[in-house]
Amino acid sequence: MKIRNKIALWSTLVTTAIFALVVIMVTVFSSANRERHFYKTLYDEAVTKADLYFSGKVDAETMHEIYRNNRETIDEVEVAIYDYGNDLIYHDDSEIDIVKETPQMLSDIRERGIMEFYEGQHQVIGLVYQHGGESYIVTAAAYDGYGLAYLRSIRIFLLSVFLLALVLLYLAGYYIAGKALLPVKDIVAEAESITGNKLGRRLTVDNPRDELGELAGAFNDMLDRLERSFDAQSNFLTNISHELRTPLSALRAELEIALLKQRQPAEYEQYIGRALQDAHNIEKLSAGLLDLARAGSDSSRISMREVRVDEALLDARNMIIRANKDYGVEIVFSQDSGEENWITVRGNAYLISTAFVNLIENNCKYSPDHQSCVTLSHDGIYASIRFCDNGPGIPREEQPRIFDAFYRGASGGVAKGHGIGLTLAKTIIELHGGKLSVTSQEGLGTVFNVMLPHV
Ligand code: ADP
Repeated sequence: MKIRNKIALWSTLVTTAIFALVVIMVTVFSSANRERHFYKTLYDEAVTKADLYFSGKVDAETMHEIYRNNRETIDEVEVAIYDYGNDLIYHDDSEIDIVKETPQMLSDIRERGIMEFYEGQHQVIGLVYQHGGESYIVTAAAYDGYGLAYLRSIRIFLLSVFLLALVLLYLAGYYIAGKALLPVKDIVAEAESITGNKLGRRLTVDNPRDELGELAGAFNDMLDRLERSFDAQSNFLTNISHELRTPLSALRAELEIALLKQRQPAEYEQYIGRALQDAHNIEKLSAGLLDLARAGSDSSRISMREVRVDEALLDARNMIIRANKDYGVEIVFSQDSGEENWITVRGNAYLISTAFVNLIENNCKYSPDHQSCVTLSHDGIYASIRFCDNGPGIPREEQPRIFDAFYRGASGGVAKGHGIGLTLAKTIIELHGGKLSVTSQEGLGTVFNVMLPHV
């Protein structure tokens, strides 16, 4: 069953139950009220007729006459009077005789003073009437035709209103539920338009504080995560080939140099050792990339430990220099890093070195002197690393785009590349809770500024 129908049904059931309770209470109250009111009428009639009878103002024959005449048109009260010996001394109409007074009944009335009860459909009241020092019993009985007819009409009216209200309540509930759930329809329509190649679309959040706003917000957050993960997956292969290039070049260079001429076994050992180190680097890189791909943007899935930034920088420099003999990397520790915690970060050592390699490599490959100057400093929160060069700089309008995947700027013609290095570096730095920014002036050089929160 659709939620709209469910809401309509439930709201109808609940309101109907409350309405039914009110109807029952009204019916019970009016029924009790009618009964009480009619007993009061019977009492008044009994006393009035007894007064008339005992005062002698109206004789018994006239009273009989009045009773018979009234009976034709109204529910006239039938009165009987018994003396102290329980003998009948007056009866409105002993032929009809609604109340069959028994000695037991009369003595009960005498004992209680007043008694109210039903005789078939007739209400009866029996009371003790005092006259001339004697106690008489007066009974009065009648059928409350008007009262009961009135009560019946009220019941029929309430039942009809009840049934009509039932239908109206369901329709109103259905309409209100439809209105309340209208935004859900919009969300469904919007969500259906989001496909694998349109993952950048997001749901419109009209009111972020209501439940549907929260739902749309949560959905959008999920799409953010999915999009990042999709991007990470689709960039994965490209990243691998790009990143494997540097250590593979280093490996190839070692082996080529080793083969240039005949060498002593000790020399071969040195070359093989360095080649092994390169192979080891490649292995670590592929493991790091696998980490990155698996994690997408979720740093909790990457194996993290404490990493010293200065060591990661030295690793990066060694890797670069071995792959490109004409590159120069100068590392300056601008503060006394005696407090080693301030340059220790929590992270994945190989991913951090990979980010540094990309930044240093950019410094070197785009500047004519192929030099990179790296400065390491720290403050209370961050370890800061600046990667500077004296290259051509990055035009102001290009700067916001250089971190986009596959973007290559005007200086791209100077050196080979795929437009991935900075994207990867930024992803890695942000995975570690850090920031990567660039400051560059055309003709003066470029500075990449990395800030990583230290332990
Ligand atoms: P790639 O270097 O493979 O092209 P990157 O993502 O590393 O890809 O860099 C993107 C672009 O940013 C480069 O094509 C280049 O135009 C510009 N760039 C990056 N680093 C520098 C730099 N140090 N000096 C000048 N331009 C740079």
